Amino acid sequence: MTVNAADLARRIDRLIGVEGHPEYAAAMNGLQVDHRGPVHRVAAAVDASQRAIRAAADEGANFLIVHHGLFWGGAQPITGAAYSRLRLLFESDIAVYSAHLPLDSHPEFGNNVLLARQLGLVPSTPFARYEGVSIGVAGESDAPTDSLLALADAFARRHGGSARATAIPVGHRTRRWAICTGAGASSETLREAEATNIDTLITGEGPHHTAVEAPERGVVVIYAGHYATETLGVAAVAERVATDAGLPWSFLSAPTGL
Ligand SMILES: [Zn+2]
Repeated sequence: MTVNAADLARRIDRLIGVEGHPEYAAAMNGLQVDHRGPVHRVAAAVDASQRAIRAAADEGANFLIVHHGLFWGGAQPITGAAYSRLRLLFESDIAVYSAHLPLDSHPEFGNNVLLARQLGLVPSTPFARYEGVSIGVAGESDAPTDSLLALADAFARRHGGSARATAIPVGHRTRRWAICTGAGASSETLREAEATNIDTLITGEGPHHTAVEAPERGVVVIYAGHYATETLGVAAVAERVATDAGLPWSFLSAPTGL
């Protein structure tokens, strides 16, 4: 049985509920680049970078699933870096499928639930609502916040990064936590954390003002890296759809250091 890019894209759309999911226009969820096909190997990467595309080509993969697609910069001339990415894709006949917020919020394949599991945390409530959908997760625990930071750091280091935190008061324990992967630290998430008695927010990154604001709202923020915190969803989806289709798959590590 052969599978083409459009078939596989439809399967992923259904699996993670892309239709009707709120999203930023630039994310352009779904099949972004077609290929001649059929699909013979699936690869997953966080970013549709030249490094990831080259790695996919080196592995003989011709269907690349990414979390951050090709069009974040909006409409732009196909010159320079944009041209190089597309040329690499066409020369290697690689299709690109991108899934952004549906892959953050999904209860089984989402970056947020999977990061919680990595940190030994069990989600019980939603967090970080965006246009009616909760992107993040929250829950209860009773652990020294230092230990949670160490776990997050060990996880980040496996993906070429590191975790840092705002000042952790001596003896601070994490009793109510929230996770919002990627660029999840913002005034909005800090306000929501304070309003819902969250004492520890685990995220990828955020602007400097979030580190100023967090202690004033009684929240410790753990920044575990945008890249690291968004490695899990694409890999989980690639594994599921490739296995279901009887295709080999792999995760392509291309850390940004952030
Ligand atoms: Zn992201």
